[in-house]
Amino acid sequence: MILDHDALVVGAGGAGLWAALELAKAGVNSAVLTKLYPTRSHTGAAQGGVCAALGNQEEDHWEWHMFDTIKGGDYLVDQDAAEVLAREAIETVIELEHMGLPFNRTPDGRIDQRRFGGHTRNYGEGPVKRACFAADRTGHMILQTLYQQCLKHGVKFYDEYHVVDLVTEGGDLGAGGRAAGVVAYRIADGELVTLRSKAVLLATGGFGRMFRVTSNAYSLTGDGVALAYRHGVPMEDMEFYQFHPTGIVGIGILLSEAARGEGGYLLDNDGFRFMERYAPKLMELAPRDMVSRAIYQEIRAGRGINGKDYVYLDVRHLGRKVIEEKLPDITDFARVYQGVEPLTEPVPIQPTAHYAMGGIGTNVFAQVVRDANNTVVPGLYAAGETACVSVHGANRLGTNSLVDLLVFGRRAGRQMARDIMGVGTPQIADDAAEAVRGEIEAIRGRAKGERKEALRKELADVMMDDAGVYRTAEGLERARDKVQELRGRYANVSVDDKGTTFNTDLLEARELGYLLDCAETMVAACINRKESRGAHSREDFPERDDVNFLSHSLATKGADGAINLAYKPVTITKFQPKPRVY
Ligand SMILES: Cc1cc2nc3c(=O)[nH]c(=O)nc-3n(C[C@H](O)[C@H](O)[C@H](O)COP(=O)(O)OP(=O)(O)OC[C@H]3O[C@@H](n4cnc5c(N)ncnc54)[C@H](O)[C@@H]3O)c2cc1C
Repeated sequence: MILDHDALVVGAGGAGLWAALELAKAGVNSAVLTKLYPTRSHTGAAQGGVCAALGNQEEDHWEWHMFDTIKGGDYLVDQDAAEVLAREAIETVIELEHMGLPFNRTPDGRIDQRRFGGHTRNYGEGPVKRACFAADRTGHMILQTLYQQCLKHGVKFYDEYHVVDLVTEGGDLGAGGRAAGVVAYRIADGELVTLRSKAVLLATGGFGRMFRVTSNAYSLTGDGVALAYRHGVPMEDMEFYQFHPTGIVGIGILLSEAARGEGGYLLDNDGFRFMERYAPKLMELAPRDMVSRAIYQEIRAGRGINGKDYVYLDVRHLGRKVIEEKLPDITDFARVYQGVEPLTEPVPIQPTAHYAMGGIGTNVFAQVVRDANNTVVPGLYAAGETACVSVHGANRLGTNSLVDLLVFGRRAGRQMARDIMGVGTPQIADDAAEAVRGEIEAIRGRAKGERKEALRKELADVMMDDAGVYRTAEGLERARDKVQELRGRYANVSVDDKGTTFNTDLLEARELGYLLDCAETMVAACINRKESRGAHSREDFPERDDVNFLSHSLATKGADGAINLAYKPVTITKFQPKPRVY
């Protein structure tokens, strides 16, 4: 059976929902497919805020926001895209307010704003209050607000439909073909459903689950990125993966940067605010890549708490009122998961794998591009963490992801509505689902084989230890060999559940395949980038090298299975690269 829509959105996080809303408003016959119930998407876990230069608390301008985004991204940001982000941040946040999002308020009733890492006034003079927030559950409020709007506008949802393949017309996507739909695995009963459409948006979130310690939900396995890659679309800037400085020790659950935005300190074993050694001006509000490296340096120098591999986040001096009104959830996480009372005790933290700066390359209209000339793939779009526009470059600033969802989710929906005009129904094969059916049945049918839990753990360990905050050629080559070994063993993966009803065992095995694709390209891109920039920190190449590496990497899969790397220039419109001092 083939179901027809004019536009499909894969993913019901902030990016997918805003795109769906635009499509519905434009009267397009469209639908959203999501493997999770929409309000379980990871956007709902976002805590600290969404930035826009509203200037409600102090003077601010979108140009300052644009500059901070570019400098924060270590000048790998495409500056035309950063301009779009900073300008449209303002109108999208106000649009959300009008949709009913319950932001915290200033005494005179405007949206309240707080400080966040790397956001400054007047091109770096000092911190500025730019992050708009709803306590420390901003993402939850955005997700609920957008979902309600989608229901109000009659958006059609295919809930718990796990997209397992893209359907194409006229050849592969890397070679001139167009996206013409998707194949989805209906989780309730194991049916494969083919959906045809003139436009497909991939908004499936990130892939933090390839690391051992991560803030990311179990569902964040890089599905959209891997599916596009398997059809010839390059993965862009995969070497840039962000570690957030403040995760709960061992388990990685996030304690938002909002804690530092409100004035929290980071302390070493001597009770010293060690950021003074690394970023004397912005201190704890330096960008995340710098703070995470600083924590590792302190630990290496033996100044971790009791010589161990963590430091303290201290919010005691903020007082009960600020903590309860502005940081209620994260302080509860510390109580529940660590047994620590933040009102009276410092909280042990360590960096946690958090955010993919890389992903599917797009232009500023969310159209996917397939080469260094930015040739558009007809019918295919990407937005949110899945996409690489690139507004985050080598390192994303806090609160810049939620605004990326809003700005480019909205653009994606509008662009899709425009592009499908005049496009006929794609011609697709009746057996479009057969290839993926074979792959899935092979896993289900294997009587005995490799256990996915073991493979996942080995992957997470090697990525954490050898492709984490600090990297060397030796470690990366070890990671490359290990991922290759795991890929070989994955070909023989088997699952215990052979059934068709809600078989998450089977889908997790499938997701492991996506993680392997992402890990393999990440490691290849890391090995090739012989410099340190933003979140990519090579101990053997500690300097930034603008002469050779001021460019985006594009990883594609060659016919022989080898990964090919190409590079394309960064778009620079206003700000020439400078040393990054905070
Ligand atoms: C704990 C935490 C706190 C954060 N706090 C902040 C913050 O304060 N400010 C900020 O700017 N950013 C923050 N971030 C980052 C930000 O929340 C994410 O980058 C962003 O929410 C991603 O949104 P998205 O729409 O791209 O995808 P997600 O919200 O991750 O949604 C992905 C969607 O894709 C669907 N999906 C995935 N695979 C498939 C498939 N195969 N088939 C069908 N559907 C699929 C899922 O069902 C889901 O609906 C935080 C992230 C985390 C993890």
